[in-house]
Amino acid sequence: MGQLDGRVAVVSGAGRGIGRAEAERLAEEGAAVAVLDLREEDVAETVRRIRDSGGRAEGLVADVTERDQVEEALQACASRLGPIGVLVNNAGILRDNLLFKMSDDDWDMVMATHLKGTFLCSRAAQRYMVEQRWGKIVNTSSTSALGNRGQANYSTAKAGLQGFTKTLAIELGPFNINVNAVAPGFIETDMTRATAERQGFDFEASKTAASARIPLRRVGQPRDVANVVAFLCSEEAAYVTGQVIYVRGGP
Ligand code: NDP
Repeated sequence: MGQLDGRVAVVSGAGRGIGRAEAERLAEEGAAVAVLDLREEDVAETVRRIRDSGGRAEGLVADVTERDQVEEALQACASRLGPIGVLVNNAGILRDNLLFKMSDDDWDMVMATHLKGTFLCSRAAQRYMVEQRWGKIVNTSSTSALGNRGQANYSTAKAGLQGFTKTLAIELGPFNINVNAVAPGFIETDMTRATAERQGFDFEASKTAASARIPLRRVGQPRDVANVVAFLCSEEAAYVTGQVIYVRGGP
């Protein structure tokens, strides 16, 4: 018996990285998982992996910044898999630059993906959760919410998501819906690899350097975040809401 047997979960940005690990982890708990991402081939690969492991999954190709696409995707999910009970808002992008070089587009795209995307998906999903009087929303913040050079846009969005999380916890708590956030540190994914490459660093060398500064002496893996998400969606965490859990190998 899995913790999420009979439940339907949507994970955004699940075509790779942390989102893929989260989708796989929730499927292991018995959830039927809707894998939402931008690119068909990424979506198909995550769906294939879940099905090959005996889980149930459907693909949704949608851009979380577009209201109509989000509404249609979540409706398709509900009609194919059943009413949505779990939403993991994970889709994200980076457009790093120092403030004086940051373009309007760098700012707008990061705000749209993290803040508007999380807002649109949460608004579309909550109605199914309210009807069921059961739901779990997990948002994706970051240690960058605490401030990080070159990330004025991203750190602002990730800090904003903490306020969004706490507010939804207050509004949706009476309907038995838990709303929490994970705030990962350095997790080994295409995103951190691309950042290292953009800065002209070898990825292995940047992992080694980061590990030396992390109390647990290693960078995180997508599964480290997925395990915390699974916990936040479990009955063991039924009395935890409005919290931001840092998953960073240190305080
Ligand atoms: P990846 O870049 O590996 O994966 C992100 C996924 O989100 C991609 O598949 C991407 O699609 C998708 N995506 C981006 N924009 C949209 C959109 N508008 N609509 C739908 N899907 C979209 O990132 P990670 O797995 O590393 O990161 C996942 C989340 O965790 C992000 O929110 C990130 O900010 C956060 N995070 C990551 C950390 C890390 O160290 N890796 C640390 C802290 C937080 P495509 O590839 O086609 O663009």
